Amino acid sequence: MKAAVFRGPGVIEIDDIPVPDIGAGDVLIKVRAASVCGTDLRIMKHGHFRLPEGQQRVLGHEVAGEVVDVGAEVVGFSLGDRVSVVPNVGCGKCSMCARGLNQLCPDYEAFGITMNGGFAEYMRVPAHAIERGNLMVVPDALTFEEAAILEPMACCLHGQRKVDVQPDDVVVILGAGPIGCFHTLLAKQQGVRTVIVSNTRQPRLDIARRLGADITVNGQQDLYAEVQRATDGQGADVVITCVSNPNVIAGATDLIGRLGRINVFSGLGDQARPAIDVNSLHYREQTITGTTGASVRDYADVRQLAASPGVDLSPVITDRFALDDIEAAMLQSASGTGMKSVVLFG
Ligand SMILES: [Zn+2]
Ligand SMILES: [Zn+2]
Repeated sequence: MKAAVFRGPGVIEIDDIPVPDIGAGDVLIKVRAASVCGTDLRIMKHGHFRLPEGQQRVLGHEVAGEVVDVGAEVVGFSLGDRVSVVPNVGCGKCSMCARGLNQLCPDYEAFGITMNGGFAEYMRVPAHAIERGNLMVVPDALTFEEAAILEPMACCLHGQRKVDVQPDDVVVILGAGPIGCFHTLLAKQQGVRTVIVSNTRQPRLDIARRLGADITVNGQQDLYAEVQRATDGQGADVVITCVSNPNVIAGATDLIGRLGRINVFSGLGDQARPAIDVNSLHYREQTITGTTGASVRDYADVRQLAASPGVDLSPVITDRFALDDIEAAMLQSASGTGMKSVVLFG
């Protein structure tokens, strides 16, 4: 089968590798759509701490496809099922897994990192991933490409849960890339009346508007002043940071009011130490949180939400590629000009 094989930083090659064999508890899926994530781009640049040097890997963890083979012991899936995967598979034994927090499992495995992922014609989903709920049926309302992008959406839902987003909150989303746009869509779907989105690129803000943003703020405008205006000088209730910039994260405390909550959604380089105004946290009883990834439960919930009437994910998918053009897909994704790049298979 054709696969895009990562061989080390900067090197990804289209190769012909065997279709994976499946065991009695495994499922084989024919990949139909796999979207490019910032994680794929980071692995391409720097490798990954869970990926030993010299280890080849099929990347891609935002995957949807069709079941084409099932092991004799598999229950709950059959040929032809449309499915997608929750990429992080917990060990099933640790205290985090016991609480359903598979994204925090210290011994997690993940498609596209420790196991072969979706930038290939076929992908094996092993028995333990199926047992832990990491393979899910895609609702009829969603296309394969929409199902592929459920993964980053699930991470966004996880982030919003951490700051307990409520309908009468004023929510500020810093950044209008795919992640900022998913946050916008989810906040609006959860009934938030005022969503403010900031970004330096106007085309991205235009897409955020299509997804429901009430107020957009571009690089020429004063974000602080806009937030003050929208909140009668009280400050926002929630800020979600979706840009990897320490100054933006440090500035988030200025945007929230009393009891305001911040979710640091985007990670930073290892050396970054943003200067957080702890007095603002102290005297105004504010909360700063962080989230990473999504649990199986978040994914299941976002899958239902995405399939509900009136939800349109299509503005977030702007660029489509064949597997042969994986490098172009990654370049496009890194360029910041579009939204999600998706690799589609016939
Ligand atoms: Zn991802
Ligand atoms: Zn675990």
